[in-house]
Amino acid sequence: MSLAGKVALVTGGSRGIGRAICLRLAAMGALVYTNYVSRQEAAAETVRLIEVAGGKARLVAFDVADSEAVLAACKSIGEEAGGVDILVNNAGITRDGLLARMKDADWDAVIDTNLKGAFLCSRAVARQMMKKRWGRIVNISSVSGFAGNPGQANYAAAKAGLTGLTKAVAREYASRGITVNGVAPGYIETEMTAQLPLETQEQIKKEIPLALFGSVEDVAGAVAYLVSEDGRYITGQTIHVNGGMYM
Ligand code: NDP
Repeated sequence: MSLAGKVALVTGGSRGIGRAICLRLAAMGALVYTNYVSRQEAAAETVRLIEVAGGKARLVAFDVADSEAVLAACKSIGEEAGGVDILVNNAGITRDGLLARMKDADWDAVIDTNLKGAFLCSRAVARQMMKKRWGRIVNISSVSGFAGNPGQANYAAAKAGLTGLTKAVAREYASRGITVNGVAPGYIETEMTAQLPLETQEQIKKEIPLALFGSVEDVAGAVAYLVSEDGRYITGQTIHVNGGMYM
């Protein structure tokens, strides 16, 4: 499962699931570019944790929804490290609200970050991967994109869109040795789920066959598998990491 010599770019690596993915890929030997948009201290902490564990990481700030910023960042990773081998499109936001009251700005922000961001980053690294005739792209989706969720029309649409993006790009790049897959988490213990009232958490757990929330490591493990040699024959798929709540 070694990723020695590989360069990984993880968007939204400053916290939560993204941080766990950064730590896991670095532990496997990759040089990990940890992206963030606003919380530099948190992203620097991800890099510090990687270095303390003996891994290699660098910080890279950009907004995944900003086409020019994405291109510039990927170009500089190309110059500095020889290009991205592994891209994990993890950056994501929620702006929940019922459809009737959802503001245009909330729709646009979620689509731009969660869906367009993955398109922009994939496009920016595809040429680098093509040159190497090897690449791995993993899009972090959500159970909401498969089962839907009231109050999340924007988020569910963006995540469902990621499934189409995953399959189309997988078909386009398969002949170049590049695989493209998704990982769709269910309820994962993060800042987001910690904010739910305890009663709600217990109610949700009753709907989950495995009866507990997942950990960020559960998601990182699925990503690790897909980008490793063990995952080389898998493309265009989504692995559901949700305790069985959606099958
Ligand atoms: P967090 O809210 O903890 O972290 C979000 C990350 O995305 C941060 O690193 C943030 O950077 C970054 N980010 C946000 N907007 C941008 C942007 N425009 N450009 C670059 N980076 C950006 O997220 P989670 O760990 O909870 O979720 C990670 C992914 O997993 C998301 O795609 C989410 O939809 C998905 N997911 C999460 C679930 C959960 O239970 N937590 C369940 C299902 C899916 P900064 O720190 O600088 O703001």
